[in-house]
Amino acid sequence: MTVISQDTIRELAGFTSGGAPVVSCYLDVDGRSQVRAQDYQAELARLLREAKRRLDTTDDVQADFDKLAAHVGAGIDRSGVRGLAMFSCAAADLWAVYPLPLPVRSRLVVNDVPAVSQLEAMLQDYGRLAVLLVDRQRTRLFLFELGQLVERTELVEELPRHYDSRGHGDAGYEREQHHTDELVAQHLRHAAGAAFELLQEHGFEHLAIGAPAQLLHDLEAALHPYLRERLRGTVHLEPSAGLDDVRRAALEVEAEIDRAREAGLIGHLRDQVAADAKGVAGLDAVLAALRDHRVERLFVSAGFGEAGWRCGACGALASVGRGCPACGEDMAHIDDVVEEAVEEALVQHVRVEICVGNADLDVLGRIGALLRY
Ligand SMILES: [Zn+2]
Repeated sequence: MTVISQDTIRELAGFTSGGAPVVSCYLDVDGRSQVRAQDYQAELARLLREAKRRLDTTDDVQADFDKLAAHVGAGIDRSGVRGLAMFSCAAADLWAVYPLPLPVRSRLVVNDVPAVSQLEAMLQDYGRLAVLLVDRQRTRLFLFELGQLVERTELVEELPRHYDSRGHGDAGYEREQHHTDELVAQHLRHAAGAAFELLQEHGFEHLAIGAPAQLLHDLEAALHPYLRERLRGTVHLEPSAGLDDVRRAALEVEAEIDRAREAGLIGHLRDQVAADAKGVAGLDAVLAALRDHRVERLFVSAGFGEAGWRCGACGALASVGRGCPACGEDMAHIDDVVEEAVEEALVQHVRVEICVGNADLDVLGRIGALLRY
């Protein structure tokens, strides 16, 4: 499994194949829409079939196609994974698979460079999540990016050895108890300091903390204001937790953050549509906005597809044919104009948001767009 980060995406974007075709494939493996392994395997088979039909020659990419089919055919570990981004160029020795915690729209692109815009937008939207786990003497810090661990640090500060073992009658008990409390308070400050260092060094947008209940309040109070404004919640974990548990908790927090972000954006879209301002809803209006290059962000309900039209002369997309609304030429009928709209949006460097089970977007016609102007 490859860890995804800004660096790996930049590296991917800079990949040169020496003229050989590069296959980029995004595959929806979301358990809610693709219930069984056969479902996403069939989805890939469909993408490969369509690509073969589209391409003049498939000789150059057959090895890449085979690789994709073999990888997906072997089954995907889908714990916390909702999408896959795969890049292959057998001729130039490129093979990279990124499991994604966000839904993607399945698509396959053959070009001379990897198609990373979808990945890039996702990374920017999603942000990094730091998880800070603290008890009385240990601190562990994790940094996640798109559900993958990218950094971790640890801090242990020993408490006096006899702590908790002496009886209350002991002469030195009170003094030692006070001393221990001081050490714990100091440890919490150090823990908060370590998190601040991580923020300065690596940067992150979100923070979740976990600590025994009696320490939680003091830990939160010790956080730098920059950390407190990034605090998205607590996890029920302590520093002794296994990495799998930490990752699972991080994915839950990330999913929650993403739901809130999506709800905020769709709410904004709804307001803009209602005010007849910088937002449109419904296939017809969205396609018109795409033709005018006015779309800033595109929202599509997962699984939404609709037949439509594409102009062979100017490339315009429309839901009603046959005369092209842009140039007047005859358009050709296509099976799925939504698919083409997503592709067109990505070509225009528009952020594309695939929404799963968002009732508000469904009411708006399962597709909508925020506009530049
Ligand atoms: Zn046209």
